Amino acid sequence: MIKTVGVVGAGQMGNGIAHLCALTGAQVKLMDIDPAAIEAALTLISSNMDRQIKRGTINETMKHDSLARIETGTGFEIFKECDIVIEAATEDEETKRKIFRDCIPHISEACILATNTSSISITRLAANTDRPDRFCGVHFLKPANAMPLVEMIRGLATSEETFETCLNFVEKQLGKTTAVSEDFPAFIVNRILLPMVNEAIYTLYEGVGNVTAIDTAMKLGTKHPLGPLELADFIGLDTCLAILNTLHHELADNKYRPCPLLVKYVEAGWLGRKSGRGFYDYSEDTPRPTR
Ligand code: NAD
Repeated sequence: MIKTVGVVGAGQMGNGIAHLCALTGAQVKLMDIDPAAIEAALTLISSNMDRQIKRGTINETMKHDSLARIETGTGFEIFKECDIVIEAATEDEETKRKIFRDCIPHISEACILATNTSSISITRLAANTDRPDRFCGVHFLKPANAMPLVEMIRGLATSEETFETCLNFVEKQLGKTTAVSEDFPAFIVNRILLPMVNEAIYTLYEGVGNVTAIDTAMKLGTKHPLGPLELADFIGLDTCLAILNTLHHELADNKYRPCPLLVKYVEAGWLGRKSGRGFYDYSEDTPRPTR
């Protein structure tokens, strides 16, 4: 039984993971270096729980008790009683390595380290810690509180006991369905999804269609619930680029080369929904295509 969960990063994924863990009964310690991100996460968790109350899936008491189980902070000291710490910070290997290095002095010997990385080698991240046997890839999808799937990835040194504990936690405590992936760049979901998103951006870049045409074509023509450009904005264009860079460098295959238009958007700080602009402009109620 995992009683206390640490979450590093209170962004799009961290807030959903904290929401889910608190609602299913765990004590949650949510940490981010940016106090504004923590503030925004707590507001979002509260409004997402209000939507669940309206739908009748939870009640006011459950919301109240869940929010009371979430403690926040900007330092790793809050992790001392954690049974597991799930890292869900920016998709950048150096950032994640430093987080694990800085976190380790503040956690117990038995604490499991997990990462929500979308693409980076679990084996390499684990090898950078003092506990590669107690390290696991636990890849939630966005929004983590609602999406049914979690990809589970063993590093080379992950012990069976650690993997079983993580699997039980995700399936039995959090109520998710799991898919086990080997530790290859971007695992299963993003290995398949990101080349499609990248191709959609190339299709826009080459002028084959505009944003509306591409998203409409894929929604109505292939029954995707979101068009690939809407989806890229939803994931975050910086995260999409980071995943494609990992695929491109580590598989050494040009089919994964990130589209130059994606690179430019990230350079401009146009990161999608989270920055208010990507392939759509989110400044008004209805997102407006930008090309
Ligand atoms: P995000 O940009 O929304 O949030 C990242 C958060 O990490 C920010 O709040 C930032 O302040 C914080 N952060 C950065 N450096 C930190 C540090 N040193 N210590 C503590 N906090 C730090 O990103 P996101 O979309 O939530 O993605 C987070 C992770 O989850 C990434 O590894 C990403 O690949 C993965 N992921 C993302 C999605 C998605 O759809 N966005 C889906 C699955 C997995």
